[in-house]
Amino acid sequence: MNIFNEMESEVQSYARSFPVVFNKAKDCYLYGEDGKQYIDFLSGAGSLNYGHNNDHLKQALLDYISEDGITHGLDMHSSAKARFLEVFRDKILTPRDMEYVLQFTGPTGTNAVEAALKIARKVTGRNNVISFTNGFHGCSLGAVAATGNQHHRGGAGVSLSDVDRMPFCGYYGRDVDTVKMIDKLLSDPSSGIDKPACAIVEAVQGEGGLNVATTEWLQALEKLCKKHEILLILDDIQAGCGRTGTFFSFEPAGIKPDIVTLSKSLSAYGLPFAVVMIKPDLDIWEPGEHNGTFRGNNHAFVTATAAIEHYWSDDKLENEIKAKAQLVTQRFKKIIEANGELTLRLKGRGLMQGIDCGTGELASKVCAQAFEHGVVIETSGNHSQIVKCFCPLTISEEALTDGLNKLEQSFAEVFAQEKLKKAS
Ligand SMILES: *Cc1c(COP(=O)(O)O)cnc(C)c1O
Repeated sequence: MNIFNEMESEVQSYARSFPVVFNKAKDCYLYGEDGKQYIDFLSGAGSLNYGHNNDHLKQALLDYISEDGITHGLDMHSSAKARFLEVFRDKILTPRDMEYVLQFTGPTGTNAVEAALKIARKVTGRNNVISFTNGFHGCSLGAVAATGNQHHRGGAGVSLSDVDRMPFCGYYGRDVDTVKMIDKLLSDPSSGIDKPACAIVEAVQGEGGLNVATTEWLQALEKLCKKHEILLILDDIQAGCGRTGTFFSFEPAGIKPDIVTLSKSLSAYGLPFAVVMIKPDLDIWEPGEHNGTFRGNNHAFVTATAAIEHYWSDDKLENEIKAKAQLVTQRFKKIIEANGELTLRLKGRGLMQGIDCGTGELASKVCAQAFEHGVVIETSGNHSQIVKCFCPLTISEEALTDGLNKLEQSFAEVFAQEKLKKAS
């Protein structure tokens, strides 16, 4: 029995899909203890958009540590925090004509979601929240109540209340305008839907299966929220920080959510870090009302600042993401065509794309086969039916092509086996 089986809880999940012990990682590569190299198409579920131990960010962190910079300071002011706030304002907010104050929450995405829901409820004085089918917002009680996934909801052990689920963009097919449905429900005093404090939504659903909200839908949702005087929370924890091609996933829609949550790749280095962006007039928090010992991680301030300065001061990375996203689309279309008898579908946008295999069984076989070929890749979706490609945004085109070749081979091998099974 190994130490993990002996000591670690059964709650382990990713470890089960990739049963090796990793001990090194650099850029888009992970290395097992035996020295075997893996291309990382999981990227910490979107926490490693700039790869592992990225040289630019690592040097900034090493310098900071060797100068005995503050590591932990509760929410006290620090030079590292000041620099992060300045750079975030100057390079991210101002160029996009956005005005927000930042709340540093506990360092996980789910804590940012809790804070976002709390402030929305506090501002409006209402308890009810609208969230969407297949949305994922985290596993603490407020966030998991807003989450669709039954497996996670089932783990809560208490009733999950004060949320009304609404159909996400395209849930009933492209022809059904779900915002119109919601508008009708909210306009009807006898619909049974209590007037909500807010709607919480992802522009591209990460865990829920790479479902893309169209630009029109997001714009309509923003309008709907204004019409009914409910706040719009955009959960950009997974789709943000460049994953879809722009820093914020909702930029192409031109909307200005009232509240935005960021985490996962915000630290840029895989360090725990989460932020709630709040429109200044909504910031009615009392001091310490949403508390936490680890609010604002100074090491994360340093690496996040370095990443914004290095990658978001011009449009070089954005253009690279677009080119790589096109390559992924092309290659995925080829895989889908080559396995024509099976109904595969392309999902997602930017470097947040995947292939819908129809069943979770098939998708997990493809991922297991890819792992044999040295690719770490996971599934997502309501039936775990989507093979989800999450390479680092900074991956070289050679490594991306290499990974895609291996993925293509894995699809071909799994489908050849499936055909044999059907024939026999
Ligand atoms: C991962 C995720 C969360 C939760 O973040 P944790 O750090 O795992 O708590 C919330 N919302 C979205 C969209 C996510 O992808």
